[in-house]
Amino acid sequence: MARLIDRGPGCPTPTPLRAESAADARGLAYTAEVKAATDQLYPLVKDFITPMEWPAIAPLVHAINTLKAEKDAVILAHNYMTPDIFRLVGDFRGDSLQLAREAAETEASVIVQAGVHFMAETSKILAPEKTVLIPSMEAGCSLAASITGEDVRLIKQRYPDYPVVTYVNTTADVKAECHITCTSSNAAQVVEAIAAEWNTDTVILVPDQYLARNVAAQTGIRIMTWPGACEVHELFSAEDVEQLREAHPGVVVLAHPECPPDVLEAADFAGSTAALANYVGDHKPARVVLLTECSMSDNVAAENPEVDFIRPCNLCPHMKRITLENIYDCLVEMKHEVLIEEEVRLRAKAAIDAMLALPKMKAPLAFETGLPPRTIPMVEVSTVTA
Ligand code: SF4
Repeated sequence: MARLIDRGPGCPTPTPLRAESAADARGLAYTAEVKAATDQLYPLVKDFITPMEWPAIAPLVHAINTLKAEKDAVILAHNYMTPDIFRLVGDFRGDSLQLAREAAETEASVIVQAGVHFMAETSKILAPEKTVLIPSMEAGCSLAASITGEDVRLIKQRYPDYPVVTYVNTTADVKAECHITCTSSNAAQVVEAIAAEWNTDTVILVPDQYLARNVAAQTGIRIMTWPGACEVHELFSAEDVEQLREAHPGVVVLAHPECPPDVLEAADFAGSTAALANYVGDHKPARVVLLTECSMSDNVAAENPEVDFIRPCNLCPHMKRITLENIYDCLVEMKHEVLIEEEVRLRAKAAIDAMLALPKMKAPLAFETGLPPRTIPMVEVSTVTA
C-alpha cells in the first residue's frame, strides 16, 4: 500500500510555495510590519509550515489579505485547498455548493475562486454581476472534462423520456443541457425528486459513474450513467480499507461517494466533504481515516486536534494548481476573469435553481455503507468527447 502515507504530518503545500524567491520575486519582504500583522496567523498552520518556512509565506499572505481589502474581493476556498490558502486567506470555506451559495450572497464585487474552473463558473452563474477570477486557468477536473454539452444533447435525443441530472462537477455548458444539478450532499434526494416529477422509474445521472452507482444503491430508482470518474477518488479500493484496518485496529473509515462502491461497502461512514467534516466534528473518533483528497484531511485535522488522523494521500493535481503566488498575481493583475455566455448562464442557472428549490436538508445526506455494489447501465450514445 505504498500509495498511502501513514501518520505523516500531512501533505506538503506545493514546492513552489516554499521557494523563498516566490515572495522575493514579487518584491514582498518579511518586514517587521509583515511579521506583526501575521504572527497571530502562524498557529493556524503550524502543523503544516515550519517556522523556517514562515518568513517566505507570510509576505504573500499579508499582501493577499491587504489586496482583498483594496479591491473589495473575497476568496472562496474549497476544502481541497492547502491549509495555507484554506486557513490564512480564504474568507469562505467549504464544498462547491457551500461556496456557490456564498458567491451569490457576498456583497464583495470581486470573487477569487480558490478551487477548480467549474466552481468558478458556478459562482459566475449565481453571481453574474460580480467579477469572478480564477488564479489558474489550468485548474480543471477529470469529471468536468469527461462530458460536454453536446454529449448531453445526444443523451437527451436517445432517452427523451428520462430526466438528466448532472453532478455539479461539470461545465456551464453541461449544466445548461441538464434538467437539474445535484451535489454529493443531496444526490439521492435530487434523483428521487426528479423521478417523481417526471413520473418515471429511470433517471440519468452524469458524469460520475461511481457516484451514480453509490446513489443507485441508496434508492429504488433505476439509474443510468456516464463513464466519468474523479481521478482522485477512483484510486481508492476496498483493499486499501482492509489494509488500513489491519494496520490500525479500531480506525474509523470515512469515504467520499466519488469512491468506487466496494470502498463504500467497506467503509464505516460515507458522505460529501461537508458530511465527512461534520462526522469528525460530531463524533470525535479516537482514530480516523478520510478516503478523499489529501488537503481535506489536513483541513479537518486542523479543526480537530484531539482526533488521530491516519492520512491517505491522493492529491488532486488540478486543485493544487492554485497557490498563494497565483492568488496574489490574480489579485494584482485582476486576471483570469471567468465569463459565460448569458444564454448558457441562464439555462445552467435554471438547472441549479431546480436543485435549490427542493426542500433544504438539515444536514448533508449520508450514504449507507455496507451495501453490496450494484452494476448499473451506461447510457448508449456515440460520444463526441475527446
Ligand atoms: S478531486 Fe476529483 S472531482 Fe474534485 S476537482 Fe479533483 S479531479 Fe475533479
